[in-house]
Amino acid sequence: MTAMPEMVSLFNGMGGACAALISIVEFNHLLHDIENGGNAEGHAGKVLIIVLGLIIGSVSFAGSMIAWGKLNGKVKDHSFKGQNILNLIFLAIAIGGAGYLVVNPEHHLVFYGVLTLALVYGVLFVMPIGGADMPVVISLLNSFTGVAAACGGFLYNNKVMLTGGILVGAAGTLLTILMCKAMNRSLLNVLVGSFGGSAATTGGGSTSQGTYKEITLSDAAMVMSYAHKVMIVPGYGLAVAQAQHVCHELEKILEEKGVEVKYAIHPVAGRMPGHMNVLLAEADVSYDKLLEMEHANDEFKTTDVVLVLGANDVVNPAAKSDPASPIYGMPILEVEQAKTTIVNKRSMKPGYAGIENDLFFRPKTSMLFGDAKKVLQDLVAEIKSV
Ligand code: NDP
Repeated sequence: MTAMPEMVSLFNGMGGACAALISIVEFNHLLHDIENGGNAEGHAGKVLIIVLGLIIGSVSFAGSMIAWGKLNGKVKDHSFKGQNILNLIFLAIAIGGAGYLVVNPEHHLVFYGVLTLALVYGVLFVMPIGGADMPVVISLLNSFTGVAAACGGFLYNNKVMLTGGILVGAAGTLLTILMCKAMNRSLLNVLVGSFGGSAATTGGGSTSQGTYKEITLSDAAMVMSYAHKVMIVPGYGLAVAQAQHVCHELEKILEEKGVEVKYAIHPVAGRMPGHMNVLLAEADVSYDKLLEMEHANDEFKTTDVVLVLGANDVVNPAAKSDPASPIYGMPILEVEQAKTTIVNKRSMKPGYAGIENDLFFRPKTSMLFGDAKKVLQDLVAEIKSV
């Protein structure tokens, strides 16, 4: 489950590479036709589709490979002064070269120049984007691959490929727009703002806020058993621990004791869009127990206990209060409005954005350390005996 997002990126990149390869093969067929006396001008429409597939497919391939590296931690965020301008220049030259090819398709060196520029652009465009903006970029690259595949469908007059490509392109575009909306960002801002870079590259992030308090398993079990309403906030750590089934068990046991249990789902929790929904569906958690961020934020006021399970960035108050933070501006789950918050994670280490979380040091928060699966199993056992 935790490696799925990397795999999705890898597959996405392969789709982009396929579309670019189709363009290369078809361009060579076309050149062959022209060399055998075909009319270059009569091919303008076909060349246009070929170069569109080439540029979009190559950007998608190179960008997805970088996203894949970032998700598995092999590639760090990199940016340099003037990078956005350089990116735009590369893109403009690639588009200019593509326009030139539509009129003069016989210049194959220009074609390979466009291919190289598109690949470099794909790398440079994803390289500085990190933290909270990665989900948006991943869904954007996904929509690019769909459009590139649709170009292949046009070339081969293949309706299945065309329909599949359009579906992926349209769904990816909608998802990108929804993710931007959920993150309170415009797409342009994501693409040129390099928001969400790691604390190391942006110099943001907060420092340690002193001491935190711990809660014992039996106290946590007691507090939850006697609560009216418990809100569970799942995050990446829940997926790492594969604790979704035992989490569902906890929910059922609490409900048997008359406690109302709901889940607060942040749109970028985990490592891929919809990650928490998929994870909880796997454990048969009823869909109507899952609250979207806005609804959950309305309900925290009337919640007795929030149980944060392996989530970190999505509950970090620095996103609201610290303009120097790399996640500043990202909407968060406002768990502090509840009466008590219990945070389960293994240590005080930061999450994906690489920054400390003041929530852990706040008076209403208690830490319950340990692997989520083990802690939940023990909690279930404790609650049964309460
Ligand atoms: P985070 O990555 O912020 O935090 C996860 C926490 O889980 C860590 O602090 C870690 O702490 C804890 N953890 C890890 N393993 C375990 C375990 N076995 N048991 C208990 N806890 C564990 O996750 P969030 O879900 O809060 O936020 C997602 C982040 O990922 C955001 O920054 C988002 O932008 C980014 N992202 C999201 C994508 C998406 O599409 N959803 C795509 C790419 C990036 P410890 O090590 O101490 O246990």
